[in-house]
Amino acid sequence: MTKISSIILYCVLCSLAFVLGYNLRFFPNSMSEISATPATTFHWKMVTAWPPNFPIFQEGVEQWAKDIDIMSGGRLKVQVYAGGELVPPLQTFDAVSQGAVQMGHSGAFYWAGKVPAAQFMSSVPFGMTTKGVNAWLYEGGGLELWRELYKPFNLIPFPAGNTGVQMGGWFNQKIESVADLKGLKMRLPGLGGKVLAKAGGTPMLLAGGEIYLALERGTIDATEWAGPFHDKRFGLHRAAKYYYYPGWHEPGSALELIINSNAWALLPADLQKIVAVAARSLNQWMFSRFEALNIKALRELQEQHHVEVLEFPPEVIKELKRLTSKVFDEEAIKNTSFKKVYEAYKKFQADHAAWNAISDGAYSKALRN
Ligand code: CA
Repeated sequence: MTKISSIILYCVLCSLAFVLGYNLRFFPNSMSEISATPATTFHWKMVTAWPPNFPIFQEGVEQWAKDIDIMSGGRLKVQVYAGGELVPPLQTFDAVSQGAVQMGHSGAFYWAGKVPAAQFMSSVPFGMTTKGVNAWLYEGGGLELWRELYKPFNLIPFPAGNTGVQMGGWFNQKIESVADLKGLKMRLPGLGGKVLAKAGGTPMLLAGGEIYLALERGTIDATEWAGPFHDKRFGLHRAAKYYYYPGWHEPGSALELIINSNAWALLPADLQKIVAVAARSLNQWMFSRFEALNIKALRELQEQHHVEVLEFPPEVIKELKRLTSKVFDEEAIKNTSFKKVYEAYKKFQADHAAWNAISDGAYSKALRN
């Protein structure tokens, strides 16, 4: 055989081997390499705590499911159901825990009644902002504590979204001193509500759909919701005069992806990796989206709707912070896992604050000078 025909034969064999999936090595090293990629297709269901078509939250999760489909080559198909489509929004945790569905997306503070310490996995009054929350969860031991908390419920949690610092809320009366908190009827759930009660106010629990009318009719004096983008979409600027900042009660609410641990165990390692890495991507996307849309919405609220944006007086913030420590201490006495997570969170937050003071904090101050 001539040299040229040898080369042609080699190339033909290489092409044939490539088409047959053996790459350029002609043969796999072992039979296990051939069967390393199972052809099983997984059809999963995911329920969320969000209304259908809810921007950023539901929107992000639905895009995420499409991304998973592409990344897995169609081997993991996730059908997403908004709150109420398959189960009510606040049954997300139970539906995934019991294995009725494989996945859910929600916020850990919704489950405070079952797992009080779960509130640290979303946001707590005077807690950390998104940057600190992510550092604690991913690199500071927070996620390990979260997995421990959810283990008895057969759930594996992943951080998957963050709202950034929320707004303090909409008020129909000015808050100029601590005395103005007395008798204040405000829709403010969770630990923030407990702090308000300590200040002499009345926290009210209202479902999303009831808030606007209650504020407009004066059944409540104030409400918190989220940030400028979602608040404006909700029309809250038409029901209240003053828009206060900062959201001391929710400085960076993380959202969660929860997966049933039995379903998770059945996934091959590559699909598990795709889900885990994609959850990090969703975490980043939601936060970036919130930041970008809040900038625009705040400008519109001020320029087009002439909303008065006011900062809580330092005296009020100082008192709310003092009362927050009292609430935390009381909760820690009632629940041992709350105490354990609170102590870990508090330590990381203190360390982070020292670094933050000379990084972001100092830089923000430098920009203002
Ligand atoms: Ca909120």
